[in-house]
Amino acid sequence: MVAAKPADSNNENNDKLDVLKSTQTVIKNALDKLGYPSEVYELLKEPVRMMTVRIPVRMDDDSIKIFTGFRSQHNDAVGPTKGGVRFHPNVSEKEVKALSIWMSLKAGIVDLPYGGGKGGIICDPREMSFRELEGVSRGYVRAISQIVGPTKDIPAPDVFTNSQIMAWMMDEYSRIDEFNNPGFITGKPLVLGGSHGRESATAKGVTICIEEAAKKKGIEIKGARVVVQGFGNAGSFLAKFMHDAGAKVIGISDAYGGLHDPEGLDIDYLLDRRDSFGTVTNLFKNTITNQELLELDCDILVPAAIENQITEDNADKIKAPIVVEAANGPTTLDATRILSDRGILLVPDVLASAGGVTVSYFEWVQNNQGYYWTEEEVEEKLRKVMVKGFNSVYNTSETRRVDMRLAAYMVGVRKMAEASRFRGWI
Ligand code: GLU
Repeated sequence: MVAAKPADSNNENNDKLDVLKSTQTVIKNALDKLGYPSEVYELLKEPVRMMTVRIPVRMDDDSIKIFTGFRSQHNDAVGPTKGGVRFHPNVSEKEVKALSIWMSLKAGIVDLPYGGGKGGIICDPREMSFRELEGVSRGYVRAISQIVGPTKDIPAPDVFTNSQIMAWMMDEYSRIDEFNNPGFITGKPLVLGGSHGRESATAKGVTICIEEAAKKKGIEIKGARVVVQGFGNAGSFLAKFMHDAGAKVIGISDAYGGLHDPEGLDIDYLLDRRDSFGTVTNLFKNTITNQELLELDCDILVPAAIENQITEDNADKIKAPIVVEAANGPTTLDATRILSDRGILLVPDVLASAGGVTVSYFEWVQNNQGYYWTEEEVEEKLRKVMVKGFNSVYNTSETRRVDMRLAAYMVGVRKMAEASRFRGWI
């Protein structure tokens, strides 16, 4: 019989997996290291604004279903808030809050004129029709319309939302506000004012971080063995970019399991067979678990799925010398410490996944000026921004002798703390 764990140990464990608590801990450490007084932490530990909405939608069977949605605006001292909207059954108020704080940090690290925002709706798009999804998307915009807008808070895609959903949301907003307002939302289809390179931007930013991290570790991308957990927007484009750069992608996974081939997987085939939710492993018999995938012998490991994947239970078993977080929050704080102590170069989420919001910023700038850039221009600008962000975090980590996550928070938090101070808020 397994002995029951004392209640305390369960609470402690829940705390460790609580993404809002973990974020607040690192924000506090970063502000202490930077020498800010405690009021700054009191302001930044929670979003300045959080809206909960109820969205009634007529379903295909003619019943009315009420969905719950959230929009969190972390800090708007620097500029309008910005961040995606996720559609997922596990969305919670706490998670959306943490995600909005991470958006502030991303904007700070890559120096965008934004604060962080985030939205979420509790729903499962895998079980909904197009018409029902349209109803939820439009209803959400109607419900939050007073607090969003191109100079207030600019939504974008996130987990299980895409350019079609952005298009419905933009159309709904244009009925409420002015006729045509493409800068209200980013991640739109090209014909509605989207930007070249936005769809693959998160993966492109992760790729640039991998290249920079590989230089620091003296690893050649050509021939490097790469494992990618998750085959959604970030994971699938990333596997393709790594494959095209001559790396050997030896492992990929989705929510149901992983595929492993030490000789390298046929990425083009897998991309061709994946469904729009990033599922592909259901077509294969010989799958491994997501936990086994993370522990594979490889040179570069990219968690590109969900939160709390690398914990104190498996951090010792990670074999990759470089871990680059394409997902938001895949590594717990205990695991961060274990990986750093083992000399593993961890590129944290708030830096590695900042490519998406960077090209969203480019999209918003193009919408505002009504002049559009080529794919090459977007990529060149993205590269400059990401390399600069990587170097400021890496150099802070070296000079202040802190791990890469704390360094990223130190770089990311500074601008909003300064802006809040200049405005006389603290
Ligand atoms: N959802 C993406 C993120 O978490 C992009 C946000 C945006 O483009 O505003 O970074």
